[in-house]
Amino acid sequence: MSTPKDEYTLVIVKPDGIKKSLTGNILTKLAEARLIIIGAKVLHVSKSLAEDHYRHLKDKPFFNDLIEYIQGKPYGEEYQRVMALVYRGPDAIRRVRALAGSTNPEEADPVSIRGSYGRITTKGVFENVIHASSDAKDAEREIKLWFKPEEIVGDLFPVKKVKREAGEETVWS
Ligand code: UDP
Ligand code: MG
Repeated sequence: MSTPKDEYTLVIVKPDGIKKSLTGNILTKLAEARLIIIGAKVLHVSKSLAEDHYRHLKDKPFFNDLIEYIQGKPYGEEYQRVMALVYRGPDAIRRVRALAGSTNPEEADPVSIRGSYGRITTKGVFENVIHASSDAKDAEREIKLWFKPEEIVGDLFPVKKVKREAGEETVWS
């Protein structure tokens, strides 16, 4: 049997996960994938970041509600944040998606993260507490969107130096 290839994937604890104090539960569940965390931060999600992240869904009727949801707009200001993480390891994308469960929390395996903690709002949005990249191409795009090179421990993608007025900054090449 061949060894699964090392992969990386973006995980986001969405604002409903933050509000429900589920960060610890989610990280404990994800530890079952036996991956390592190479980046982690808490941040506010701007409208432009939200729209870029979910650009593949921009024609969906629920797009505006989804953008408000990932920004935490339906919740109090202290919950308008997410925790973003990058996991690395063999078969990382499939393993994390399996632990996350199906997109629709009502259809998700009840033992999965989304099955355990998700719900469908009265507006019909799937509040499913976690984002997980769906394939390698999406993972690379999403990690580059959410993280700067210096926020990742170790080398991930090629980088380049660009001149800035106040010196030099490292950006994805
Ligand atoms: N979503 C929703 N209704 C749908 C499909 C998706 O509310 O019919 C939301 C849900 O929060 C989901 C996100 O939009 O996690 C992104 O959708 P995608 O199809 O990429 O699912 P995922 O990759 O998150 O499982
Ligand atoms: Mg997706």
